[in-house]
Amino acid sequence: MTIPESSVIWFDGALVPWREARVHVLSHALHYGTGVLEGTRVFDTAAGPAVFRLDAHLARLERSARMLRIELPYKADELAQATVALVAANGHRECYLRHLAFLGYGAMGLDMRHSPTSVSIASWEWPALLPAGRGLRLATSSWRRTDANAVPPAAKATGPYLNSALARREATDAGFDEALLLAPDGTVSECSAENVFAVRDGVLRTPPGSAGALEGITQDTLLTLARDLGAEVRVEPLLRSDLYAADEVFLSGTAAGVVPVASLDNRELPSAEGELTKRLAAAYRAAVSGADARYRHWLTPVQSS
Ligand code: PMP
Repeated sequence: MTIPESSVIWFDGALVPWREARVHVLSHALHYGTGVLEGTRVFDTAAGPAVFRLDAHLARLERSARMLRIELPYKADELAQATVALVAANGHRECYLRHLAFLGYGAMGLDMRHSPTSVSIASWEWPALLPAGRGLRLATSSWRRTDANAVPPAAKATGPYLNSALARREATDAGFDEALLLAPDGTVSECSAENVFAVRDGVLRTPPGSAGALEGITQDTLLTLARDLGAEVRVEPLLRSDLYAADEVFLSGTAAGVVPVASLDNRELPSAEGELTKRLAAAYRAAVSGADARYRHWLTPVQSS
């Protein structure tokens, strides 16, 4: 994915031309993975472009930074203003946003205390990431999510994405679309960049944070939408055999959206896209586009100049 070089990037307090958003090769984060990030989406609504669940994303960025002891030099409301200004400046109707806070260059060595935090926000137009038009083919990965006492999986941090990248590469090398990662205890955790849901006999289930899954904002959104549709919802540990035996499996994430799964480890699910998956995908579209008034509080409008 190349980002249009005509765009601007918010970098340490100012909107700068794309080419000027540079870092030094001795930046701490480049060597040791000391960064936290967010992926957020802007959707086109009848009232203009709007950022979906911006407050929840910035709150997670703050929690991730606190867990890793990365000091954020900006408060959430400052980052919210910067986000809206960036989207307006780049003139997007819809886009993906990448917030990144990382340790820059101060001194070499692991000690984090001497490296200043830099913060950037970039935006670009990015359609749904996973293959569209058919259910995904998933494979259980030989790579596992980390234990809560290694890098905390609840922090959305840059370093641990190496694990996700290894899992994704293993899956795609073997001809699958995406990897399912297990937790250290062997229960289902999540995919390389999406949470996972299973439906059986009308009950919707998804693994908890204690299974090493990121507390996904799309996951939380879909749990709310499912409850509002009257579905029974459970956040509880799942076995991979629960996925093999499910009526429906789907993934959720900001970049991916709501994506049906057709098979796991070559076990075909009963249909490539189940009924509840379809209803939730439609409810999600209605929420993010502002069509369903009950969820408009999740949208932060972008006033374009
Ligand atoms: N798990 C991982 C590892 C992710 O990278 C993501 C994407 N942020 C998700 C789950 C889904 O989270 P969200 O719905 O907040 O995008």
